[in-house]
Amino acid sequence: MPRIKNTKIQTSSPLLLLRQIRDVMAQAADAQARLDQVVTIIARGFSSEVCSVYLLRAGDILELYASQGLKKSSVHLTRLQVGQGLVGSIAASAAPLNLADAQSHPKFEYRPETGEEIYNSFVGVPILQGGKAIGVLVVQGKAAREYSPDQVEVLQTVAMVLSELAMSGQFVDRQEIATATGGLVAQQLAGVRLAPGMAKAVAVLHQPQLVITQYVSADPDHEKERFEKALRSLQESFDHYIQSSGLSEDDEHRQIIETYLLFTQDRGWIARINEAVVSGLTAEAAVRKVQEELQARMSQMASPYIKERIQDLEDLSNHLLQALLGKPVVPKPHDLPESFILVARSIGPAELLDYDHKRLKGLILEEGSITSHTAVIARAMDIPALAKVEKATTVIRPGDTVILDAEGNQVYVRPSPEIELAMNRHIDQYAVRAAEYEGLRDAPAVTRDGVRISLNVNAGLFVDSKSVLQAGVDGIGLYRTELPYMTSPTFPDVETQAALYASMYAQLPGKRVIFRSFDIGGDKKVPYLHAGEEENPAMGWRATRIGLDRPGILRTQFRALINASAGQPLWVMFPFIAQLSEFDAAKHLLEQELETAETRPSSLKVGLMLEIPSILWQLDALMQHADFVSIGSNDLMQFLFACDRGAAHMADAYDTLSPVMLRVVHEVVSKAQGHNVEVSFCGEMARRPLDALALLGVGIRSLSVSASGIGPLKAMIRSLTLSELTDYLHYLLQSNEPTVRHWLAAYAKDHGIVV
Ligand code: PEP
Ligand code: MG
Repeated sequence: MPRIKNTKIQTSSPLLLLRQIRDVMAQAADAQARLDQVVTIIARGFSSEVCSVYLLRAGDILELYASQGLKKSSVHLTRLQVGQGLVGSIAASAAPLNLADAQSHPKFEYRPETGEEIYNSFVGVPILQGGKAIGVLVVQGKAAREYSPDQVEVLQTVAMVLSELAMSGQFVDRQEIATATGGLVAQQLAGVRLAPGMAKAVAVLHQPQLVITQYVSADPDHEKERFEKALRSLQESFDHYIQSSGLSEDDEHRQIIETYLLFTQDRGWIARINEAVVSGLTAEAAVRKVQEELQARMSQMASPYIKERIQDLEDLSNHLLQALLGKPVVPKPHDLPESFILVARSIGPAELLDYDHKRLKGLILEEGSITSHTAVIARAMDIPALAKVEKATTVIRPGDTVILDAEGNQVYVRPSPEIELAMNRHIDQYAVRAAEYEGLRDAPAVTRDGVRISLNVNAGLFVDSKSVLQAGVDGIGLYRTELPYMTSPTFPDVETQAALYASMYAQLPGKRVIFRSFDIGGDKKVPYLHAGEEENPAMGWRATRIGLDRPGILRTQFRALINASAGQPLWVMFPFIAQLSEFDAAKHLLEQELETAETRPSSLKVGLMLEIPSILWQLDALMQHADFVSIGSNDLMQFLFACDRGAAHMADAYDTLSPVMLRVVHEVVSKAQGHNVEVSFCGEMARRPLDALALLGVGIRSLSVSASGIGPLKAMIRSLTLSELTDYLHYLLQSNEPTVRHWLAAYAKDHGIVV
């Protein structure tokens, strides 16, 4: 067949074509009817006899979904394997194919049912999603003529609009598309446990994908302007970041931003987006189109370097889309599924609290660390949580079924029926174990040799008194009062706070509740308190420091506590005390408030958290000033070892069972002796039975952990002979090893202690 060059095939204006397609897509007609109209419009627009749409189905099959020009009976009948024939090759390579004489191409495969033997010219483009082909759009004609690069471009633009229709799930079920694109095959990801438990639910992404609602625009000039403005603002923000961050030139984060900045200046990239805009797409659709095409091209290359660049590119395009579309719409609580597992790169404590905790069944983070406040909240919410789950936000897609096994530190994404069945069994077993702990509810926390241990719950972020009572405990050892501060738009007033505290008294009659005055600041930011930017907020203006600088806030809280406690015992504890004078000053404020109060508690006990190392050198005096102390290992560990509690990559750097930590605890217990000062332990390490075992060994007799940790602790305590352990612990304290964990684990095993 002779090749006729330079014979132009007419294409109606791309803008007109897109507008016609947009109008059809906006119709209320049935999806198939709309697709049929779309192929007719495209064929007409290209002055060609044939236009067909193939969509990807499970098993790497491309099915003919609509055609103008091919035999109608072949629609839904003709199917090709990815890689098979011309259409299959386009899907496999995710790249266009433009042929004047299709039949002479080695890949051409004749399908008698379609009647396509009479057609010669062929141009096909992939319908892309996430850089992968989810379908193929083909135009064919009788004349053996080549389509111009401009026409291929127009077809790609149309394919971009069609991908939206294809992804709507009206043709191929979304789950099937997902399986078909291979991005959504079952996957297993490993992580590090932040909070125990198991859950199965659908995934919700914390930062949802930006949704493009307008693909076609009638005003390319306006879209061009929008794109340029967004690009400029992005460049400025990157520039500003580099200038003001103070990061050194070899800092990895800075290098990434610099790469992004270079990308935003890439003429080829900008030109491609502008071309797409000129052809009738909105600025956001143009950005997505170019991203899809680049991604498709780059993902054909195997190099890990390129793979990383794909991620950068996606990140950059998302920044740009955000500049164009504004922040992604976070689903309203009532739009969220009845039960879901939240997936995030990282999430702050206040952001986590924004989610409806009745529906939230689990948390998966790419970053995060065990002693971060986010982890504390996850435990308080009593949901399983894993951190350091690499690529979680890219592998897991919204709506995926996810099994979160925080017992085995695994996440099963889109599990196969076999995995689901096996995991359901594990989930059931976990529930049985939880029920066994529940069986210990009324059993006392007494060791084999008769030592009674006070078991308490850390609460406050969720006033879940039912779980406190169900756990069978002595009371609340740490009531974190930050919640109303973090969720309120202004400082909560006396009445609001008093009502909350009074409800604790009402719900837990006869139980001790230790109220910790607010520990806001640090990573528990409150929007109305302007602390200014701090380089190290964890060591900055935080907790009692704020309270002493702004005594009005602290006194408001004290007044609320006094009002709520009327006639009942009041226990107050100050966090983040670095020196005795701060404790005395806070106590003085409390006493002043008491003098003018209209009501009085039946008794008042004032204590503090030991969580800043400096206070350890004032223990002798402190024991004479305080009624009780509580060791907060989350902060104490980070300051003792100079190791950020929120830094995922440092999470395993030091072990809580370091003899250093245990010596500190032992020292506090020894200093308290003879002073009638109770030493309790409310840091997260106490939640792990083996860690708690060590704490009991060095003299701690009162523990406070999140409610779900109580059962395992009780089981451990009831299987322990404390007198034997104490001797062994004193021996281990002499060690200069980084940890005594292995020794203790062996001891527990040999002595039948349930840890
Ligand atoms: C601690 O620091 O150990 C503690 C219990 O307090 P928080 O986790 O609230 O800082
Ligand atoms: Mg603390």
